Amino acid sequence: MVFYEISPTSIVGKDFLSLTYASEENLPAGTIVEIPVGKRQRIGVVLRKVARPDFETKSISRVLFDTPLPTSLLKLHIWLSEFYTTHPSTVWQTMLPAGLNKKRRTGRSEPNFASARPVKNGERVSNEARDDGPEARRGGNGLVGDYRVSARTNFVFNPDQLSAIDRLAKMKSGTAILHGITGSGKTAVYKALATQALGAGKSSIILVPEISLTAQLVDEFRADFDNVILTHSAQTEAQRAAAWGAALNANKPVVVIGPRSALFMPVRNLGLIVIDECHEPSYKQEKAPRYNALRASAKLADFSLAKLILGSATPLIADYFTAEKLGRPIVEMKKLARSNAQKPTTKIVDLTKRDNFTSRSRVFSKQLLIAMQDVLENNKQILLFHNRRGSASTTLCENCGWIAMCTRCFLPLTLHADKFELRCHICNLKQKPPTKCPDCGSADILHKGIGTKKIEEEIKRLFPDKTVRRFDGDTARGQAVQDVFAELKSGQTDIIIGTQTIAKGLDLPNLALVGIVQADAGLMLPDFSSSERTFQLIAQACGRVGRGHEQSTVIVQTYQPDAPAVVYGAAQNYKEFYKYEIANRQRGHFPPFAHLLKLTCAYKTERGVVNATRKVASEIQTEFVDQVQILGPAPAFYERARDIYRWQIVIRCASRDVLKQIATHVTQQKTARNWTVELDPSSLLS
Ligand code: ADP
Ligand code: ZN
Ligand code: ZN
Repeated sequence: MVFYEISPTSIVGKDFLSLTYASEENLPAGTIVEIPVGKRQRIGVVLRKVARPDFETKSISRVLFDTPLPTSLLKLHIWLSEFYTTHPSTVWQTMLPAGLNKKRRTGRSEPNFASARPVKNGERVSNEARDDGPEARRGGNGLVGDYRVSARTNFVFNPDQLSAIDRLAKMKSGTAILHGITGSGKTAVYKALATQALGAGKSSIILVPEISLTAQLVDEFRADFDNVILTHSAQTEAQRAAAWGAALNANKPVVVIGPRSALFMPVRNLGLIVIDECHEPSYKQEKAPRYNALRASAKLADFSLAKLILGSATPLIADYFTAEKLGRPIVEMKKLARSNAQKPTTKIVDLTKRDNFTSRSRVFSKQLLIAMQDVLENNKQILLFHNRRGSASTTLCENCGWIAMCTRCFLPLTLHADKFELRCHICNLKQKPPTKCPDCGSADILHKGIGTKKIEEEIKRLFPDKTVRRFDGDTARGQAVQDVFAELKSGQTDIIIGTQTIAKGLDLPNLALVGIVQADAGLMLPDFSSSERTFQLIAQACGRVGRGHEQSTVIVQTYQPDAPAVVYGAAQNYKEFYKYEIANRQRGHFPPFAHLLKLTCAYKTERGVVNATRKVASEIQTEFVDQVQILGPAPAFYERARDIYRWQIVIRCASRDVLKQIATHVTQQKTARNWTVELDPSSLLS
């Protein structure tokens, strides 16, 4: 008998991190097995052999897969659990697909899927000993040779692309930023690097924000590579398990493409990880373990001696800062790849100026109206952007753009209409809204932003015979998105209203005008990343046009025409925005200059939530007095969700380890069920 420490993939009991089981077989670490727990069968992962314990042990029921998980994933599992103070079983639930122990027939739609077999004695391939074979090492799918030549696409790399490829190809391992403007041809660079990896017998993982919005990238990879494995949330459980099995059992290097979770595909011999549009919020998982895929990828690249390429036109300033600090390569591509592409003309329209409006509309300036009219007459398309999250109640001066700010947190105050009171959702400062603007004295104090519904109504009123289509986060889910894309591309739709940054998949040949209805809307959110998100939205929206050879226009309407996020966003000037914002973060002690922990508490009654957060805040105060700064307790931004009251505490500290101790303290108290603990929150809104 051999005894094994097994890590169950579902929580058996909060205090059981791993369990001991027996088997006749010799099982390498990473083998996925089925184990009896109580009356039920559960899945577990073999961690290591142990000495015969002095208690009774049950036997492993069966081995689910002959091939063990790659060692790098076992290391990543430990790291995630430790770094995000999350139970190891919870981490497995994120890392492994559901239903691994279900019996499935191998079929054409489920390539290489290994079905489970009962336990018997025998040899097993160990983690390290597995070899992908000479065929793979030579680059088995015929892509050997010069990886700087695009295999099946009919263009020649431009100098920017060539030097990017050269520099990244020479880099041995570790992280690099590929900072290329929208349309600079980053996909072709990713492909060249994947080809290089393949030539060295190594696999690649390409992460995309959301697969349904990235059809073009997927098509391009599929055209050039044979062993592409796709994984995404619209797949059935069986399809996902099949894709997972295909990666596990691959005997050639593969290219995996998928969203955040594709990082955990059991890829052996990993040579390259690409994170495309690496600034996208979807790379942060919003349930436990609340991990950041960039962080986790860097670790995985480390464990596998692979390269990690972070590609974006607008990398998060914290990531850019880290790359600079560590002296990692930052490779730039500043030109549009298509030789005939023309940059758009950009105009900023000041919403505080009455002259910019006519009696026709209070939502669209006359500049935007004229441009829309013109485009529609020429049968071209219009894209109107609006930041939905920004339509929350705020208080601003319509005359000069002044916003009510918290004097302690330097973040906007939120209006609570019921009590007619301004409140800071970070530190809980309260004050009455002013009757006139403290800056310019105007009485035109406006108490909210423009809603998306209002925009749609206005458009229908102004252009009743035109086709309008709203395209937001909710429409963008599932397969139907392909149909929406096809419809938008065909040009049947005249006006598209987008409520979130539409990912790169939306490359519309007929698009001639982008209008941002209220560019500063997101600036009013009480969050340290508001300015950055606003900059990204504007810069990315500008990148939607100017891809073809025809002249295009971007009109940015705003109450704050001088806000750096607006000015630099419209100019797509990353460098200047970076300088401005990094100084801000330093002054406000926000990331990357401090670590944050966000504790959110939910109760059925307001009293319950206030008492609970006060109690925890005072415990933290007592125990960690000189080390941390406690912001709050304050009502969460989304204070009442259904019949639940939500409050939050934000803790700031120079040491992430101290924050981990606090996180553990909160998750171990009796009322842990009421709390959500988030290390390194990307936003303070919840
Ligand atoms: P990015 O990801 O940087 O926004 P893409 O990779 O989507 O840009 O490329 C933009 C467009 O330019 C695509 O249609 C692509 O096929 C094309 N393209 C890329 N490289 C070249 C090149 N060297 N010459 C001509 N067209 C190119
Ligand atoms: Zn004013
Ligand atoms: Zn405050």
